[in-house]
Amino acid sequence: MRKKIVAGNWKMNKSVAEAEDLASGIKRDLAECREVDVVLCPPFTLLKVVGDIIPDSNIKLGAQNMHWEPDGAYTGEVSAAMLRDLYCHYVILGHSERRGHFYESDMAVNRKVKAALANNLLPIMCVGESLEERDSGIMEKVVERQVQSGFDGLSGEDLKNVIVAYEPIWAIGTGRTATPDQAQDMHAFIRGVLAGVTDEATAAAIRIQYGGSVKPSNAGEIFAQPDVDWGLIGGASLDARSFVEIVRAAV
Ligand code: PEP
Repeated sequence: MRKKIVAGNWKMNKSVAEAEDLASGIKRDLAECREVDVVLCPPFTLLKVVGDIIPDSNIKLGAQNMHWEPDGAYTGEVSAAMLRDLYCHYVILGHSERRGHFYESDMAVNRKVKAALANNLLPIMCVGESLEERDSGIMEKVVERQVQSGFDGLSGEDLKNVIVAYEPIWAIGTGRTATPDQAQDMHAFIRGVLAGVTDEATAAAIRIQYGGSVKPSNAGEIFAQPDVDWGLIGGASLDARSFVEIVRAAV
C-alpha cells in the first residue's frame, strides 16, 4: 500500500512575510493530517523560515534543486548536506524548468539523485514530455529514457526511497491538465519501466505523483487513478486554501 504524497512547489515565489503566512495557514489546517505525506518546497531563501514553522506538525520540508557535489567552488549552488542541515527531508530534482531553462541533462539529474540518497534526502524526480513529443507519439520513449537514466546505477534499496513525479510539460502552469486516462496510462507505463530497472515488488511500492495544473476542482478525478499516488502542485500550492483542499481530497 503506497502512502499518498502531496508536495507544493513554490518555485521562485514569496517573500519572508508571505511565506510565514502561507506555511502557517497550511500548518493550521493540516498539522494533524497523517493519512497523506505533505511536503512544502519553498525556494532556498525560505527554507529556514518555513522549517521554523512546521516542526510540531506532520508537514515536511523539501527543496527544489541541489548540486551533486558535497562542497567546493560551485558559485550559486547548494549541496545535499546543506539541505539536511536545514532539516529538509525531500528534494525535487530534474523539474522540467530546470531541464529546460538551465539545461540539466539526464546525467546531471542522475548524479543529483545519487547525492540526495547518499545524504538521506528523498528525491522527487520529475519526468515528462513536451507537447511536440506527445503529438509525435514519442512520449513513452522520452519518459522511459528519463526514468532509466535518472535511476541508472541505483540499488533496489535506493529505489525504495525515490518518488517519481510525472509532469507533462504541456500541463505545467498552462491550465491544461492531463485527462485522468492520460495520467493513469503514463503512470502505469512508468511503473512498468521501474519494474525493468528493479523488480515488480519494488516498482509496486514506488510512489508516482502527477503534476500539471492540478487544482481543487480537478484533483479528485486525476488522483482517483490507481497508479497516481497524488501530486506535485505548483500554482495552486501558493494559496493555503487551494493547497489544503487538494490535500484534503486525498483523505
Ligand atoms: C510544477 O511546476 O511542478 C507544477 C505542477 O506546476 P503547476 O501546478 O502550476 O502546473
